[in-house]
Amino acid sequence: MDAGLQKELEEKVLSGSRLTYDDGVALYASDDLAWLGELAHQVRTQRHGDAVYFNVNRHLNLTNVCVASCAYCSFERKPGQAAAYTMRLAEAIRLAQAMEPEGITELHIVNGLHPTLPWKYYPRSLRELKKVLPQVALKAFTATEIHYFEQISGLPADEILDELIDAGLESLTGGGAEIFDWEVRSQIVDHKTHWEDWSRIHRLAHSKGLRTPATMLYGHIEEPRHRVDHVLRLRGLQDETGGFVVFIPLRFHNDNNRLSHLPMATGAEALKTFAVSRLLLDNFDHVKCFWVMHGLTTAQLALNYGADDLDGSVVEYKITHDADGFGTPDKLTREDLLELIRDAGFRPVERNTRYEIIRTYDAPDPGRRDTPQPIWA
Ligand code: SF4
Repeated sequence: MDAGLQKELEEKVLSGSRLTYDDGVALYASDDLAWLGELAHQVRTQRHGDAVYFNVNRHLNLTNVCVASCAYCSFERKPGQAAAYTMRLAEAIRLAQAMEPEGITELHIVNGLHPTLPWKYYPRSLRELKKVLPQVALKAFTATEIHYFEQISGLPADEILDELIDAGLESLTGGGAEIFDWEVRSQIVDHKTHWEDWSRIHRLAHSKGLRTPATMLYGHIEEPRHRVDHVLRLRGLQDETGGFVVFIPLRFHNDNNRLSHLPMATGAEALKTFAVSRLLLDNFDHVKCFWVMHGLTTAQLALNYGADDLDGSVVEYKITHDADGFGTPDKLTREDLLELIRDAGFRPVERNTRYEIIRTYDAPDPGRRDTPQPIWA
């Protein structure tokens, strides 16, 4: 990038002017990662100071049986296939209750599009979970699942969401977004939910008072311009509803799926994606680095490239952990998360699903980093 354009973009960011599609493409074309990080970090620090948010949660996948076969998916199985499962409700409740002593505040529930389970299974699951864990927020179902429930029930999303909210739903999850651009999407997505239905369902959820996350699956066949298009669609929808609570770039993993021949995004590409997303999304409060999909070291670095949230304890993440060959742990305890955040130089802040603060913890000892390491000859 020439120095003139770099200065122009910097001035736009520092004056709070909204960046355009061309600006986003130009930012991705820059090879000055430190500069991008510094800009994104300024924006992130203006919003959140030295805070890094996390929660104590558990991911739960009630079934991995799915009628679709998305090219990037390492999770889905067909009925009868080895490792295909559908959880009995008692098992889901047992797993969720096991987290009670750790002070869990959220269950994150995402599933395959099961061919024969009746739609009523899903509100019943929420009701049963809410009955035994009334203090735990239920963040459940992607827009793709809600769209699928419309198809299997014959009901409109309006009535589906009303029933799920009545059963205890607090938020949708942000998945199913992948990359909205059809040029890319048509090659990798096998289910029927695209931008029109994804945005319709989140808009409807926001109109009912739910606040939802939004994701982007990056680092496969898309180009930077598709990422820019993706986040600008989200920015436009956020202008309209104000209902998105966080943006989450998810790094594509290349094991056990039909895109295994592709290399994965490098750590530098991940950091660039966080930085550019933070700069473009001027109406999103939070950018999350989901540590499971980036590894702990890149997740810590991302906190200096625009991210301010690390998700949570997770416990079990089958969607990439069926694909992860990098030794990323399955679970972090609250103490692990506090240590991870402090070790990166930030102050841990525990939040709930709506990003309301539960507890602010001590920042790391500032003296620690100023002390030179002793060197022995
Ligand atoms: S991404 Fe979701 S819809 Fe697509 S195959 Fe995997 S589980 Fe099914």
